[in-house]
Amino acid sequence: MKTCVKCVLTDQYPGLTFNEQGICSFCEKKVHFKPIGETGLIAEFEKARMIARKRKIGYDVLVPLSGGKDSTFMLYLAAIKYKLRVLAMTYDNGFLSPSALKNIQTTVKNAGVEHVFHRPDLEILKIVYRTMFRKTGDICGACDIGTNISILKVSHDYKIPLIVSGVSPLENDSFVPDSIQDIARFRYIMKATGRISRREMNKFLIYPNLNYFNQTILKHTGYFGRLIFPLFYIENPSDKEMGRIIREALGWEDSTDSEYTKHFDCIAEPFTNYVRNKIYGYEHRICQYSNMIRRGEITRAHAMKMLDDDHLWEMPANVEPVMEYLGVTKEDLVEIFAYKPLTYEKHTSRINRLFGLAKKVKDRV
Ligand SMILES: [Zn+2]
Repeated sequence: MKTCVKCVLTDQYPGLTFNEQGICSFCEKKVHFKPIGETGLIAEFEKARMIARKRKIGYDVLVPLSGGKDSTFMLYLAAIKYKLRVLAMTYDNGFLSPSALKNIQTTVKNAGVEHVFHRPDLEILKIVYRTMFRKTGDICGACDIGTNISILKVSHDYKIPLIVSGVSPLENDSFVPDSIQDIARFRYIMKATGRISRREMNKFLIYPNLNYFNQTILKHTGYFGRLIFPLFYIENPSDKEMGRIIREALGWEDSTDSEYTKHFDCIAEPFTNYVRNKIYGYEHRICQYSNMIRRGEITRAHAMKMLDDDHLWEMPANVEPVMEYLGVTKEDLVEIFAYKPLTYEKHTSRINRLFGLAKKVKDRV
């Protein structure tokens, strides 16, 4: 396995190349993150305020809150820094960690905002997770689909004009290409197993015919809230600094288990990340640590040490409840580890592929 001399990415990452000095193509391009600018963000917030006033509703923005660092920072920005009227919401994916639940409770109270849980049918959710894991070794994509749809649903139900997402530039390139976030791909995999009826699948998907194209139209027309990513608008505080801000302003508490605290909100994450590492030869952290090195936030040696401490090649502790929930044994895992990456990549909806292509062209212009 070849590792980049500047970051910690390896040749297992799809499409990554190295120059003669051993520098990877990401580091060579040195794609520095350039924020859109705070003016743009403030303009979005002003527009949301105006629409909310016109609609005579009590909320300007919807903040999806997982109890983790990035989403809590969104709560801080929206409620405290920019003084918007916030509804916070949490998609209960069945794997919320006790520390995440505690953080949600504390920070929502301290921010003085209202909060709702959105809960999918837990029996259907279990079938979805079990099927997805068994067929692909991944449940994060299905969870993302459920989360995104429930956010849109809540924005529609409360007529909230703007959704403020904590997706961060730090996570760029850290999701594998065939993560099952595409609904057509999701349907293909679920249907192939015959374990879920059409009615159950539609119930899980809420809006079963949603694709990137009609989703964009529905956001433009105001049927759903518009989705923005504030961390792409402003200079980002370092991971540590972000933790300090929300600790002081909202009483948020850090995880004590690992220096890497992006996803301690999900109890399934150590297990799914471990499986991803086994199938793909790399996982989220390696990509995010590499982004942190390129941003000058940590040194390569520091990242190496964190990766070492994370013991990514060993089965994480306390995974039995997660495995039981997913209905898999250690023997099943041997089969799952042997899955070929990118098996379902081509099973995407034609309209999503076209839309993705059009977006790429537009971004280049
Ligand atoms: Zn590199």
